[in-house]
Amino acid sequence: MIRAVCVYCGSSPGSHPAHGIAADALGDAIAASGRSLVYGGAHIGLMGRIADRVMAGGGRVTGVIPQALVAREVAHTGLSELIVVADMHERKARMAALADGFIAMPGGLGTLEELFEMLTWSQLGLHAKPIGALNVGGFYDGLLDFLDHARDQGFMRPAHRTLLLAGPEASALLDELDAWRPATATRR
Ligand code: AMP
Repeated sequence: MIRAVCVYCGSSPGSHPAHGIAADALGDAIAASGRSLVYGGAHIGLMGRIADRVMAGGGRVTGVIPQALVAREVAHTGLSELIVVADMHERKARMAALADGFIAMPGGLGTLEELFEMLTWSQLGLHAKPIGALNVGGFYDGLLDFLDHARDQGFMRPAHRTLLLAGPEASALLDELDAWRPATATRR
């Protein structure tokens, strides 16, 4: 089972209530299944919302935040553990090392950057951990279509297209992450 789940998500709450509701559902699913949350340590947006929810459910939450963002993103002071690091690169590396699998919820450029770094590291064989997109209300439909397009245009191996799991429901996506096995033969 994927025990420590790294969740990338918006530092904004999003304009539709469904996003916050989905953060609650994923937080509940993580806590109820005895997993822990690793995330960016902020108290704002969907980031704060899922952290609060996992803590409320009795789960362990580790936040990893760069010193420069402690004030800007309002570092969450109620976590099991808050790790303050030097910069963005150290943040991503620490989050990746601490987690057994990754889920991207709806978010903006930061979320996408973190998601794609984990996908490209997997493509290169630098890690062999599952990666999923929680496709709340079809939020990621356009991105998933674009990835199909990039594959169809010959810029991505079909096996690498399968690195990103996706689904609309938190518990089912966690189950998919649990069941995922790396296809080592497809590595570059
Ligand atoms: P966003 O999806 O843009 O709301 O950002 C979500 C989180 O990603 C925030 O905590 C951002 O600080 C973080 N973030 C943005 N860019 C980067 C980056 N290059 N490396 C690490 N984290 C980032």
